[in-house]
Amino acid sequence: METISTVAGLRACVRKWKQAGARVGVVPTMGALHEGHLSLVHAARAQAERVIATVFVNPIQFDNADDLETYPRTLEADARLLENAGVDVLYAPTVSQMYPPGFATSISVSGVSGVSEGLCGGTRAGHFDGVATVVCKLLMQTLTDYAFFGEKDFQQVQVVRRMVTDLDLPVEIVACPTQREADGLALSSRNRRLAPQQRQIAVALPRIMRASAADIAAGADVPVALAQAASQLVDAGFDPVEYVELRSELDLQPLAVMSEGTPVRLLAAAWLGDVRLIDGMAVSMPE
Ligand code: AMP
Repeated sequence: METISTVAGLRACVRKWKQAGARVGVVPTMGALHEGHLSLVHAARAQAERVIATVFVNPIQFDNADDLETYPRTLEADARLLENAGVDVLYAPTVSQMYPPGFATSISVSGVSGVSEGLCGGTRAGHFDGVATVVCKLLMQTLTDYAFFGEKDFQQVQVVRRMVTDLDLPVEIVACPTQREADGLALSSRNRRLAPQQRQIAVALPRIMRASAADIAAGADVPVALAQAASQLVDAGFDPVEYVELRSELDLQPLAVMSEGTPVRLLAAAWLGDVRLIDGMAVSMPE
């Protein structure tokens, strides 16, 4: 595996691959890699002959300086994992390469009704503008055929899809299912910041969400079920619970009732101490 940190080096490499007829996939990450990230690499390897993984902790998508500072950075270990998973190129630019002095242009996906409204966009000011800007840059830098994202960050995937459609970017976005620990907790780089006791509480997030999704699928009143899930999360020790919402998958419109034939997702974010956890799961009506 080659590690590249410049756009020129990256472009030369991708050009060579494309001239040889290879399809190329990219897996954007912020590092501190785990099996969830590696599942995206596996999906990329199954669909493309060449795979780039990017590791870049994007400062402009953080609304909280502490969160940015304490975000785990483990580049050497990440590089080993990516190499073992069969990645061809690790692209790891520095902050000053991505945002050199004078950098002034950003993609705005907020303030417009649609996929970036509410949920994580409601509580994290400017977050999705920062995500859209860095993903747009990464897609234009790598010029790949496919880009792989996790459904763990469901709203992020929909924001990226919207941007790719709106800006006619020549890339196919592939969404991959959430990978979980044996007890159901979604894998996340932030999990390693949980104290042992918080880790025990954390599993209540998928457990309560799964039960709520089952109730809703069985016909429970949606606002009542959502309020009940939120209060169960508080009782379990989450503080605060940012949101528990039912949204249509396609356009992320909030739903107060289930409607047959519309794919829907239960989405939640809640805090344990200074660690913010999110999760999401499909709600399927019985056949
Ligand atoms: P991050 O490094 O947290 O920005 O995540 C990079 C990519 O990995 C994003 O597309 C995430 O949605 C995806 N990802 C993170 N955790 C998981 C997981 N548990 N399962 C699948 N994909 C994940």
